[in-house]
Amino acid sequence: MTTGTIEAPRSDEALVLGALRANINHIDNQMIELLAQRSRVAGDIGLAKRVTGRAIHDPLRESAHALDLEQAASRLGLPARLGRELALLLARHGCAAQLEQPKAPRARGIAPDSESFRLARWEPGRHTVVSVGEARIGAGLHEVIAGPCAVESERQVQEAADHARACGVRILRGGAFKPRTSPYDFQGTGMPGVRWLADAAHSRGMACVTEVLDPADAGAVAEHADLLQIGARNMQNVPLLRACAATGRPILLKRGAAATMRELLCAAEYILVAGNPGVILCERGLRTFERETRNTLDLSSVPALRELTHLPVIVDPSHAAGRDELILALCRAAHGVGADGVIVEMHPRKCEAKCDQRQALTPRQLDEICNEVHLVQTHLA
Ligand code: PEP
Ligand code: MN
Repeated sequence: MTTGTIEAPRSDEALVLGALRANINHIDNQMIELLAQRSRVAGDIGLAKRVTGRAIHDPLRESAHALDLEQAASRLGLPARLGRELALLLARHGCAAQLEQPKAPRARGIAPDSESFRLARWEPGRHTVVSVGEARIGAGLHEVIAGPCAVESERQVQEAADHARACGVRILRGGAFKPRTSPYDFQGTGMPGVRWLADAAHSRGMACVTEVLDPADAGAVAEHADLLQIGARNMQNVPLLRACAATGRPILLKRGAAATMRELLCAAEYILVAGNPGVILCERGLRTFERETRNTLDLSSVPALRELTHLPVIVDPSHAAGRDELILALCRAAHGVGADGVIVEMHPRKCEAKCDQRQALTPRQLDEICNEVHLVQTHLA
């Protein structure tokens, strides 16, 4: 006689798992059908708006809808964040469907003369999503990265992190090594600043991004920062591109103020060819004859880069505008042209900012942007 528990034969386990998977596949297929139905309704809404001359993007309605979905998710025992992220995705795709005019499908090809950035160039089926902490940049959501221009002190970055977190920011920015135009200006707090930034972000559940200026610092910075920034001035600094790529950390690569999109993609290629696939491109404005703004934000680069590359693209309206009062409007525009997010500067005490004071957002201005563009409510799940 034998004793002990009877184990289900493996084939039964496989049967149960197979049935459960079939069930979940069925639910997913139903969701896709509902999404297709939703997209058709969004197209009709777009037509109705065109006929009545109303704007397609309606941030107030999107914000209210995000709150509704967040509460509905909570009521059903799901994380509120799921409701919010779903609202973001739906708003983005809903806008696209509303803008869609009936037309013949466009055949999309690989960019001509693109051998020099063959790893960065768009190809059918390639779509890069870069994970940084909880954020997934390129996954269809519009991420808001925020924080001070410069890490000035431990207290300042802690305060900035509190405000950023309260706004729902998931990636805190802050420059510890500052590439200042004049050598007499504040140059940053160096490695201690990197550690303060990382502590402030990580202790609040956020990730952080900081600029690397010197290839020799890349390894040390990468021990603390989740995302390494290569600034506009250094976009074509090949040793820096290689040193940052070698750390394995994802890289935020800013477009030079006088660089073409193809030059930006060639710079990204240095990182990709070194075996690091995590590149996020950033448009931050070009140097032009215009003096009312610090730089001229080339928003056309966002859809144009989409045609050329599979890499995610974000926008930095702070360094483009150079003035805090323009930033909300430019964030709306970045969202409108389909950017994967924005990176903005916010100082907890604007009047004390040691660097780029004129363009620093106040915490209240950041909150306004996050509520409208990011659709993140100030109370976190
Ligand atoms: C920055 O983001 O801190 C910065 C210096 O930006 P950019 O390299 O775009 O000038
Ligand atoms: Mn700055």
